[in-house]
Amino acid sequence: MVKTFQDYLSSDCHRTYSCVHCRAHLAGHAALISKSFQGSQGRAYLFNDVVNVSSGTPEERVLLTGVHDVSDIKCKCCKTTLGWKYERAYDTSQKYKEGKFIIELIHMIKDNGWS
Ligand SMILES: [Zn+2]
Repeated sequence: MVKTFQDYLSSDCHRTYSCVHCRAHLAGHAALISKSFQGSQGRAYLFNDVVNVSSGTPEERVLLTGVHDVSDIKCKCCKTTLGWKYERAYDTSQKYKEGKFIIELIHMIKDNGWS
């Protein structure tokens, strides 16, 4: 029996980021917004859209850039916590991050077509 548990990014999206632990696709390069974020364990990337993740219960957190409602996101395949999702930003200058996803660099690898 074939078990399908993973979403795949479209084949025209050659450059993808995958979960370093189980190789599930996480995001395409086109969804990358910024590489200049800081996670709890180092550098982190901001993505417009991700696949194969589930988000937890939102909670209020004080981050470097102010108070945000964020929820942890986990890889659906291996259950590793990868980063977080910005549910709500209180500072107007941070509103662009609402609904966006942070994935820490240590949990990602680059797949396919990267030169
Ligand atoms: Zn995974």
